[in-house]
Amino acid sequence: MLVDSHCHLDHLDLADYQNSLSQLLDAARQCGVGQFLSVGVDLATSARLIEMAQSCRDIVVSVGVHPLQRALPPLPTVAELLGLGRRPGVVAIGETGLDNYYGREQADWQEQSFIHHLQAAAQLGKPVIVHTRDAREQTLALLRAHADTEVGGVIHCFTENWQMARAAMDLNFLIS
Ligand SMILES: [Zn+2]
Repeated sequence: MLVDSHCHLDHLDLADYQNSLSQLLDAARQCGVGQFLSVGVDLATSARLIEMAQSCRDIVVSVGVHPLQRALPPLPTVAELLGLGRRPGVVAIGETGLDNYYGREQADWQEQSFIHHLQAAAQLGKPVIVHTRDAREQTLALLRAHADTEVGGVIHCFTENWQMARAAMDLNFLIS
């Protein structure tokens, strides 16, 4: 069985599937995909994904606010993340992280948001999906300070070097 560990089922172009998500899912199932982890990018879509997971057994979700936002939303609070993170079908927290690829204007917001996600995940005992680019040392420092390294998570969007990969794996994170 294949697991798609990072998809965005609410962001797909369904033109080739008669605009039907269930047709697309069926096509993937026929190719052997047995589980879809659909990753939240903001609180509203995370809530919608939870609804989606309730109607399909092979869909599980994560809840979080992506570090790159066109207009910065209010900082997600630990309480908000815990509230969504406890709902059925939620297996992970994220995606969250630090992304300096386009500059550092949102760096403070990203850092606070990342910390809140790590704190919520640690309280829930759920893994964290980390989207990080061009922020090697800060990402590792925040993981060391706030992540539950018994549970770990995944460093998604990994574009760093072996040294960072090794350090992340030492904190019980997988690389993707
Ligand atoms: Zn993603």
